[in-house]
Amino acid sequence: MGTELAYSEQFNDVVNAERAYELYWANVITDKRAFLCSEYESGCPARYTCANMDTEQLQLKQVPHFRNQTGSMPHMNGCPNLFEQEGRGRGSDVGQASEAGQPAPDRFLLTRPAGHFAIRERVVAGGIGVGYGHNEDRGGGGKRSRGAELYSLAGLVSRWLKARRDNVDSKLIISAGTQGPMTYREMFENFFVKRPSLSGEKRVYWSKAWINVTPKGHRIRFCTSVNAINGQELEYPIFPSAMIWENVLAESEMKKLHTRRLIRFSDTKKPCVVFIYGAPKLQERDGRKFINFEVGSLDHLDVQGVDLFERIRRAKK
Ligand SMILES: [Zn+2]
Repeated sequence: MGTELAYSEQFNDVVNAERAYELYWANVITDKRAFLCSEYESGCPARYTCANMDTEQLQLKQVPHFRNQTGSMPHMNGCPNLFEQEGRGRGSDVGQASEAGQPAPDRFLLTRPAGHFAIRERVVAGGIGVGYGHNEDRGGGGKRSRGAELYSLAGLVSRWLKARRDNVDSKLIISAGTQGPMTYREMFENFFVKRPSLSGEKRVYWSKAWINVTPKGHRIRFCTSVNAINGQELEYPIFPSAMIWENVLAESEMKKLHTRRLIRFSDTKKPCVVFIYGAPKLQERDGRKFINFEVGSLDHLDVQGVDLFERIRRAKK
């Protein structure tokens, strides 16, 4: 049991656990115990711990979440979070219909607002009467009547995994950037031996891949070749690939997290599962054709272990 939102004493704002996770990996916050009940301004003394905030390798059962801190004071009488804790388990929001019956669409925002990782300024209580100004961004999914706002593909993948397991991926809606809304099922395009083609549309492409370290960055080479793209047959099968340039990695706020994940898979020399948001391009150099995914931001890439194939199994009805 847990709560969805908590006040971060180090970030000075109310955040959800996914956002806390990003802030930790961007070196903005450091203490998993520095969280208060979101009603702290009304005098609630309860404290939270953000579990798994510092876990680099996340499994479905370990998603970051807030839980009551050991030794913390209980919630004050009438605290809405007290009710919330008793009322439901954590992580149960994905794919559940809102009161209107239709799940609210999620949004994948392709760029983070300026200062997304900058510590919020504390507004002195009793000043202009603004409290802490935590009405801005909560990193997605704060309000249950709204869909989540996601800034990283990792967040999108985790929503998709849950949606698949609950068999609602063809109901739950996602819109990415300026793209029209579509279901999670339409957004995620898998290519593999039995489906060796790419639509060429802007999608989340995913498949098994190898990661190699090169002097200029990390090279991703998918394990499956494709023989068609954009409905166009290729003269010969091509293994799609992508390059994570050093400068793109260096620009990422969460480079520590991304680097660890990339190194973990490049070191093992075992395949992993790579997710990339974007549109693949058929290109030609020195008379040789290749298919490339451009990775302009680490927020548009996610890498998972091959145990993902176990984790995406749909729940039995
Ligand atoms: Zn409380």
